[in-house]
Amino acid sequence: MDVRIFQFNGCNKCFNETILLKGESKYNIEFIQDPQNWKEQKTDISIITGFLLSKNKETLNKIKANSERVIAYGNCATSGGIFALANQKGHDVSPLKNFIEDTININGCLGEIEELKFEIEDNELPKLQNLCIVCERRKTCDYLDELKRQIELEDNETCFNDLGYLCNGFVSKECKERCIDYNAPCRGCKPIIERSGIRMLGMFGTLMGNIEVATEHSEKGATDKLADEDDDITASLPDIVGNFFRFTLPTSGLPKGRIPSNGNLLEDVFTGRLIEELPLISGLLGGDHSISLTLKIIETYEEANNIKVSEKTKNYRNQLLKLENALQKAIQSKDPEQYKKITEEIRKIAGNMNLSNLSYGGFRSQIDENDDFEEYKAHPFEVIEGTYKNGSIEFTIDPIGIVKKIKIKEGYV
Ligand code: SF4
Ligand code: SF4
Ligand code: SF4
Repeated sequence: MDVRIFQFNGCNKCFNETILLKGESKYNIEFIQDPQNWKEQKTDISIITGFLLSKNKETLNKIKANSERVIAYGNCATSGGIFALANQKGHDVSPLKNFIEDTININGCLGEIEELKFEIEDNELPKLQNLCIVCERRKTCDYLDELKRQIELEDNETCFNDLGYLCNGFVSKECKERCIDYNAPCRGCKPIIERSGIRMLGMFGTLMGNIEVATEHSEKGATDKLADEDDDITASLPDIVGNFFRFTLPTSGLPKGRIPSNGNLLEDVFTGRLIEELPLISGLLGGDHSISLTLKIIETYEEANNIKVSEKTKNYRNQLLKLENALQKAIQSKDPEQYKKITEEIRKIAGNMNLSNLSYGGFRSQIDENDDFEEYKAHPFEVIEGTYKNGSIEFTIDPIGIVKKIKIKEGYV
């Protein structure tokens, strides 16, 4: 069976994951990193990875005309994914279905290779449960008393939402990467329902029933509002789009944003996000540089704010950087055995390929059961306004921790 895999824009992590298909000798695989210059050829299956822009339409039409089946692999291709957060600033990142009809979607950031294999074989995907069913935390759907932006790691039994810390597990499918197992909330990369962001927003609003709603008269005649402007609640939910629509903005039904762009799509993705969410974003979209990009962001902030980091933490981080190097070599040589071995090593430290275990000051969950976790455990940190700069990265955060400006040296993504 002829399988052609095309990498379009941005992160190449899903593209790289398809190296694992090479282990399947029955496929005749071709990797295409420059789809615009692809010489047309008939093929059984075309797999689209990376995010898509209107300038890619012609190439996508050519691929469609030559393929028996077209599969969108990973959220970038299925729903615009995390790069589509730049649409808040007027960009036009779009899902594959906006360009061509009859495509098959494998959601996920990272897309799951096991699901891709099912689709290639034209087998029905196993029915997946709601993420909350397989979560080790207990969901009670109790009313919230308060909202939090950073989680204390002491409690690993209670649902993040019950702790006041937004988790999109209610609207997600069970998944392989399982951020929730590493004390990171689910941000909803595998939606179980249409328009999952709006549904989750509604759910969260319901949980907030215990929270006081201001009922003052306003000039427009309304009498209700969530809270007064400088209320703790509104301060705890400053990035609604980034938290509820992280992977689904173009399919959410929300209008395109009108915030001015600074001209660079990647920097527009990061602008407006919260300081505590940056590692959870760079860990996803940094492609084969995800580890170094995430550590660069974390360490730049730590160094400037004197956040203490233990030797054990440094040691684990150095191991990760070495593994990233080795992974890049395995990717270059398209070696599935090496790729598998190294990604397994990365998962042992970083939790998963989303790097959910990485945080400021240390790690979110224990790496080795023989370790004393206290030696490298992350702790909630203070949000401090300022400009943070270290070689290839520079970002400015405002007093409540929103990224106002960011510059990332080319080559990271
Ligand atoms: S950002 Fe996520 S969905 Fe997009 S290519 Fe990277 S891992 Fe895949
Ligand atoms: S909402 Fe999140 S933390 Fe709560 S049970 Fe579901 S997946 Fe687990
Ligand atoms: S836990 Fe993480 S990998 Fe799983 S659906 Fe949620 S965001 Fe995606």
